[in-house]
Amino acid sequence: MSFREKPYWWETARLEAGGPPAPVPGQADVAIVGAGYTGLAAARELARRGARVVVLEAETAGWGASSRNGGMVLTGLKLGVADLRAKVGRELAEEMYRASMESIDCVERIVSEEKIACDFSRCGHLEVASKPGHYRRFAQWAEIAARDFGREARLVPREAMESEIGSRIYFGGLVDEGSGGLNPARFVAGLAYGARNAGALICEQAQVEGIERAAKDGTAGFRVSTARGSVWVREVFVATSGYTGAATPELRRRVVPIGSYIIATAPLPEALAAELVPRGRMIFDSVHFLHYFRLTPDKRMLFGGRAAFFPETQNTIRQSAEILRRDMVRVYPQLAQTPVEYAWGGTLDFTFDMLPHAGTMEGVRFAMGYAGHGVAMATYLGAKMAAVIAGDDVALPFARVPFPTAPLGLYRGRPWFLPLASLWYRFLDLVQ
Ligand SMILES: Cc1cc2nc3c(=O)[nH]c(=O)nc-3n(C[C@H](O)[C@H](O)[C@H](O)COP(=O)(O)OP(=O)(O)OC[C@H]3O[C@@H](n4cnc5c(N)ncnc54)[C@H](O)[C@@H]3O)c2cc1C
Repeated sequence: MSFREKPYWWETARLEAGGPPAPVPGQADVAIVGAGYTGLAAARELARRGARVVVLEAETAGWGASSRNGGMVLTGLKLGVADLRAKVGRELAEEMYRASMESIDCVERIVSEEKIACDFSRCGHLEVASKPGHYRRFAQWAEIAARDFGREARLVPREAMESEIGSRIYFGGLVDEGSGGLNPARFVAGLAYGARNAGALICEQAQVEGIERAAKDGTAGFRVSTARGSVWVREVFVATSGYTGAATPELRRRVVPIGSYIIATAPLPEALAAELVPRGRMIFDSVHFLHYFRLTPDKRMLFGGRAAFFPETQNTIRQSAEILRRDMVRVYPQLAQTPVEYAWGGTLDFTFDMLPHAGTMEGVRFAMGYAGHGVAMATYLGAKMAAVIAGDDVALPFARVPFPTAPLGLYRGRPWFLPLASLWYRFLDLVQ
């Protein structure tokens, strides 16, 4: 199989600012580490409020998961509502779920305010049941959604699935019309433009190597050192998600980097595209080793999954491309002869409790842990944490739960347990 080893989305967006990277200034009000949705949404909001903001990005703006993902703007969190309630209690679970709904409105509002041409649409999502028991779970969720959240999630029985998907392997589905889809690279490029336009300075190729407390003229603050010089600031916001590294060891101990991979086919004939995804929805299945898929605006099949657990390398991308192609043809035998033109990977940020977290640790602000649900939530928590930094009284449910690390200090940033976790989840997929 021959394909381009780069995100298809990169062909559709202008991510580079062009010219040499901006010099790191000596002083600013706020330093933001990482220029993805989290960091850029925060930078845009803070700059609009008049703060002097510098965004420090190791690579280029949008380089991380934000330009490589499936572009699914999803309601809910990684944890289903029943698990969420069991973990944090009914009240907090409902607040978190409500925040997930607000996060989609937040994306829609920014797209409209910045006029970002990223094909955002409220196309809804379709979760497909990989096993009969999973469809029964969908029915319970639809009941809870209607009763406790006032939301309609519509069940699609197996015999009616043809109206939603051109595949016969699933045991029914659940449609949530509240979700949307977009072109992720264009969205992050638009956020970067919006942040710059509001006055934020984005310094690319400025990997943060250390953050230490340092007072200046009697004012408490931090000295943030980068590969291209250091900056003194009053506030630091860490927005590095799955790429969190040695500069923030306490956060690194709490985030597990996990690879996710995607292939994109050649553009499909209109009639075939309409047969495979008749309503243009964002689709994902119901197992732990899940697959997610959708059509791109130019009608390619974009098919992703956790084909390898480890973050991306040339090897894992090639292996994953083979696995994903095989899996895609199992879902859609109609694509057996369709060439795959792109394959790529990116790194997700899982936490030990599967929840996003936002708050302050050792004086440093952070938001991360979106576990594959970050397009909307990262944007939302970035903007919310900007309001916190600006001094607003913000009630954030994700700041009210402890941010756990592995027990007994067993994890310091090298996820040695991933092969075991991978086996465990494969086992669960067999038996559940
Ligand atoms: C393949 C894939 C598919 C996905 N699909 C979906 C989806 O369909 N829907 C959904 O909701 N979510 C999805 N996600 C998750 C979503 O993309 C992320 O949750 C989201 O992009 C996180 O944004 P972020 O800004 O927090 O982090 P990122 O976009 O990852 O940005 C972090 C940035 O920090 C920089 N950085 C790290 N360390 C340093 C340092 N020391 N100094 C300076 N810079 C640093 C990195 O270079 C990087 O650019 C997917 C993720 C992947 C990988």
